[in-house]
Amino acid sequence: MTLARILALKGSDVVTASPRRTMGDIVKLLAEKRVGAVIIADADGYIAGIISERDVVRTLAQRGADVLADAVSEHMTRAVVTASADETVDEIMDRMTEGKFRHVPIVDGRRLVGMISIGDLVKHRMAMAEAEASAMRDYIATA
Ligand code: AMP
Repeated sequence: MTLARILALKGSDVVTASPRRTMGDIVKLLAEKRVGAVIIADADGYIAGIISERDVVRTLAQRGADVLADAVSEHMTRAVVTASADETVDEIMDRMTEGKFRHVPIVDGRRLVGMISIGDLVKHRMAMAEAEASAMRDYIATA
C-alpha cells in the first residue's frame, strides 16, 4: 500500500508558516488547525524546517515563556526527513520509528504535496485489520 492512497483519502492540505513567524504564532496555528506539526516553508514554498508540539513544549520548559517571541526558525528542526507518495506505508513507518518522529512531509521533487502523521498510519492499519477480520468472518460463515 502506497502513501498516495492515504493522501487520496485525506487530501493534500499541509499547514505551513514562514520562518519569520514567532513561536507564539506557531502555538496559535497548532491549536487553530488541530495539528501536531507545522512545516516551515521558505519564500519559494520549499521546506525549510518542521516544528512540532514537542519542540514547543521542550523550548518552553528549557527557556520559559520568553521563547514565544522568538522566530520559529530559531527552534525548528532543519534536517527534515521526507517521503514520496510512491513509497509504502511500511517504509514510512520504519522511517518514523527509526527517527522517533510522528510526522513526515510528502514531496514531489522539492514540492510539498502532503503530510502523513502517525495517526493517519494507525487509522489505515486499523481499517486494514477490520477489513481482513470481516473477510475472514464472511469466509467462515459461507464455508
Ligand atoms: P514529532 O514526533 O513529530 O512531534 O517530532 C519529534 C521531533 O522530531 C521534533 O523535534 C520535530 O521537530 C522532529 N521531527 C518531526 N517530524 C520530522 C521529520 N519528518 N523529519 C525530521 N524531524 C522531524
